Amino acid sequence: MAKNILIVDDSSIMRKMLVKIFEEAGHNIVGMASSGAEAIELYKELNPDLVTMDITMRGMDGLTAAREIIEADNSARVLILSNLDEDKYKDEVQRIGAIGLANKHNADQILKLVGE
Ligand SMILES: [Mg+2]
Repeated sequence: MAKNILIVDDSSIMRKMLVKIFEEAGHNIVGMASSGAEAIELYKELNPDLVTMDITMRGMDGLTAAREIIEADNSARVLILSNLDEDKYKDEVQRIGAIGLANKHNADQILKLVGE
């Protein structure tokens, strides 16, 4: 089923890549943010079905932003995206209640987690 997705990443190249992946899979991009603070604001405004969240960003990092979004809305679905297979984040991703952790460059893995 098509999902309304908010993309959060400080890299415009990465945002474009994710837009392409999701649009080709039939999902709708309802907004994009390039910082954690902006993500929190846009989440409240747009109430998306799902958020993809970069970890490393200037200012508030993605894990902190994800935690704040989920604390404010316990039905929020946030998928954390990392650059590498950063297993070191797995425990924290689970602890904050995000739906999972995927490699940014693994479109199949991302779409599988989004679709679940
Ligand atoms: Mg980044």
